[in-house]
Amino acid sequence: MKIVKFLQGRGLVSAYGFLSYKCHPIRCNRVVTRVLQAPLCTASSGDNIPQVCIVGSGPAGFYTAQSLLKGDKKLTVDIYDKLPVPFGLVRFGVAPDHPEVKNVINQFSTLAEGQRCSFVGNVNVGQDVSVEHLLQAYDIVVLSYGAEDDTTLGVPGEDLPGVYSARSFVGWYNGLPEDTHLNPDLKSSDTAVVIGQGNVALDVARILLTPIDLLKKTDITEHALEAIRESAIRRVYLIGRRGPLQVAFTVKELREMVKLPGCRPSLNAEDFVGIPDKIKELPRVRKRLTELMVKTATEAPSGAEAERQAQAKNEWGLKFCRSPVEFLPDASGSRVGAVRLGINKLQVIDGIEKAVPTGETEDFPCGLVLRSIGYKSLPLDPMVPFDSKKGVIPSTEGRVPGVKGLYCSGWVKRGPTGVILSSLNDAMETAKCILKDLSAGELEASHQAGWGKDEILKHLHQKDVQPVLYEDWKRIDAEETRRGEEVGKPREKLTSLEEMLHYAFKH
Ligand code: FAD
Ligand code: NAP
Repeated sequence: MKIVKFLQGRGLVSAYGFLSYKCHPIRCNRVVTRVLQAPLCTASSGDNIPQVCIVGSGPAGFYTAQSLLKGDKKLTVDIYDKLPVPFGLVRFGVAPDHPEVKNVINQFSTLAEGQRCSFVGNVNVGQDVSVEHLLQAYDIVVLSYGAEDDTTLGVPGEDLPGVYSARSFVGWYNGLPEDTHLNPDLKSSDTAVVIGQGNVALDVARILLTPIDLLKKTDITEHALEAIRESAIRRVYLIGRRGPLQVAFTVKELREMVKLPGCRPSLNAEDFVGIPDKIKELPRVRKRLTELMVKTATEAPSGAEAERQAQAKNEWGLKFCRSPVEFLPDASGSRVGAVRLGINKLQVIDGIEKAVPTGETEDFPCGLVLRSIGYKSLPLDPMVPFDSKKGVIPSTEGRVPGVKGLYCSGWVKRGPTGVILSSLNDAMETAKCILKDLSAGELEASHQAGWGKDEILKHLHQKDVQPVLYEDWKRIDAEETRRGEEVGKPREKLTSLEEMLHYAFKH
């Protein structure tokens, strides 16, 4: 039965790979037909084509594939992902109330539906297959596996119940299987703090405070919707270690927060003393951002906006020049009750305004803490160089030194900052470097078309790993969309691996 399931949907398996499987007789005809129809397998013998394997199906993976396919009209790309579903943080990171950002999925889908690109999900590289094996099977391997961990503060009390990483919280409301059971306690207190002042911090604050009637029309997971519906959180404060001129969020996201229905901003005018004088010297983007913060902090709202803010039940705010030095338990001793903040002053060190502790502290009561101080990439495989200090794979224009045929792109190449579009520029650089190396003869196509993927599929089969191909993902997609339609949402995500695999292979 396992073999039958494995063979179901393996439409691009070449005759070479196909024959090596012990094929179930009932399925043989169907698979043979599809094998014969598959264009990858029709290359005449000796007609070697560069075969590329990309690890990670987020924006970096797909944009790298796109640039490579555009730059070389013969080359083929197989994109592997450890999850059965594609698109990385576009699916599991981007906030549910930002559906327009996810439109990029249409572009990626068109690519995966093309004849020279395929998706192979449910394959954890480093565990199910090694990078060394991928390098043997493919001419080129691009590592685009993102940043799946997060940075910690390393202060006492960080592991108290009630302190969560924003990464897990995001994964929980966005249906990442590993975070499905996070079950954050949103009932024990009315005050949350978010450590960090980047766009992820704003995302999690906004999701905590957005009226349920707006959230319920998004693809937020049902469990998160229910928990937020019953949430006691009314106030969320974002704590920055530096000042207003150093916030890491952007103006569009700030504007959204300022206008958030049912919620009023609470910014302290004293934090902005002297800032207006500096505005004119700021670069355009930072200028607009700072102007909005200053306006929000110093100008009293009038008219309908004053009315709106007066009636708002929720509140959000920014606190500056504060670093957590300890998380303190509440009276029961069983969960977080406050954060002790070290007060900083700003000092220019090596040309950068840095936070320097004054030695003073203050305690800030809160019952929920989301630590949002950045994601972090991890090393994947002992044979891949990794700079643990910077948390990236060292590379020159995406080429990994010392390992022929190995490249990288995206967050694992340049660190965990930048929007989806930044991954496009970055992927283009890596693809350009690969195409240059190909045309210079530094890399050669050493196998017939389809060989690399067949080799890896055979290996996965031996290891009893069931790869999820693009058409399998489409069955998951159809089920999620169907469930979403029933409740007036764009989709209701499947949140467990078991369920994803069940629908992937359901015929
Ligand atoms: P990822 O998107 O993380 O993709 C990496 C992929 O690699 C994943 O699919 C992962 O499953 C896979 N992978 C990991 N390990 C393995 C392995 N061992 N084997 C196989 N596969 C593996 N940008 C915007 O423009 N707009 C937004 O609204 C926005 N919102 C965001 C919200 C959050 C919470 C976060 C964290 C980021 C957001 N971004 C947004 C930024 C954007 O998501 C990133 O710039 C982009 O996703 C980085 O792309 P990537 O491909 O490098 O990484
Ligand atoms: P980020 O933008 O780098 O912000 C990290 C924040 O954490 C900064 O305020 C940083 O302050 C702070 N920080 C770091 N280390 C700290 C420490 N030890 N103690 C206290 N504070 C610390 O990272 P992010 O918010 O995780 O976002 C990642 C990327 O995704 C960003 O490029 C972001 O723009 C993007 N994204 C975009 C959107 C969107 O477009 N809507 C949404 C979400 C994410 P310092 O500046 O002082 O280091």
